[in-house]
Amino acid sequence: MADEGTETRAQRLERFRPASGMVTPRFSGIASFMRLPVLDPAEAAGEGADRVEIGLIGIPFDGATTNRPGARLGPRAVREASTGTRALNPVTGVAPYALAACADLGDVPVNPVDAAETARRIEAFYRPLAEAGIVPLTVGGDHFVTYPVLRALGAARPLGLIHIDAHSDTDDAQYDGSRLTHGTPFRRAVEAGVLDPRRCIQIGLRGSMDAADEHDWALAQGMRIIAMEEVCARGLPEVAAEARAVTGEGPTYLSFDIDALDPAFAPGTGTPEVGGFTTREVLHLLRALRGLDLVGADVVEVAPSLDPAGITALAGAGIAFEILCLLAEGVAVRQSVA
Ligand code: MN
Ligand code: MN
Repeated sequence: MADEGTETRAQRLERFRPASGMVTPRFSGIASFMRLPVLDPAEAAGEGADRVEIGLIGIPFDGATTNRPGARLGPRAVREASTGTRALNPVTGVAPYALAACADLGDVPVNPVDAAETARRIEAFYRPLAEAGIVPLTVGGDHFVTYPVLRALGAARPLGLIHIDAHSDTDDAQYDGSRLTHGTPFRRAVEAGVLDPRRCIQIGLRGSMDAADEHDWALAQGMRIIAMEEVCARGLPEVAAEARAVTGEGPTYLSFDIDALDPAFAPGTGTPEVGGFTTREVLHLLRALRGLDLVGADVVEVAPSLDPAGITALAGAGIAFEILCLLAEGVAVRQSVA
């Protein structure tokens, strides 16, 4: 640990940034998210000099998956793929590690056979981070993991949501009453009062459904759904503008299910749906979301065993970097007004 009394924020930013690929080769060393230092979450949230501003966290849990499993291996594969990401976003000009102290805080200690117990562990892991003002960027795991993360981040006040996915994930229950699945996280979060449904927008929904009631429930709560056909009809700039209008100025969470991408760009996921976004479209969409008050984000449902060429993990890593740029700008804005 550095000496708390003498280290400046500039020096802390120097410590909590990725290992340079110009100094040690990107393929060498133990793979952490973005080649960032690995830090104990208690140190990251503590009062000492190792407090960081953005924590990258893996949740290797897929015990709430209803179709093809494998997302438990997502964090490990995205860590590996993310070692190729560099420090500067050439399109937006954002250099995230110059704006926010970042670290890999490791994986949440999940119970692979118990979703309820895992939810408790996830919430307990994130609560001290939220109280310390650390912005988490999570890599799943199946989409169920977002629910306990939202419980921790939204405990003080309900959050807005930008949810990019092929699916609404607002089912009530599946398989004779199971309420904790990757098809239910946003319904549970609204019920728990940690999401404000009138500040929630879901983008890219598509595919066949068992019944319409999942969408009907979301719409009845006041959530906005922009299904893929509306995305195509209106174009990305209008979609991004509406996402900004719906979420407004308040604290907002960004959740990205990799199955929002077309299976051509993300074959390695449990519930693929044809007719999705290209990876390039998603990067454009995310770049149009700058300036929101983002308090956390995730990339979920990367399943490497269904991803023979590593395409999906690479997409997940690239999207995670794009989202990290958004989060880092938010940290910089909060620093400047503090
Ligand atoms: Mn989902
Ligand atoms: Mn999905």
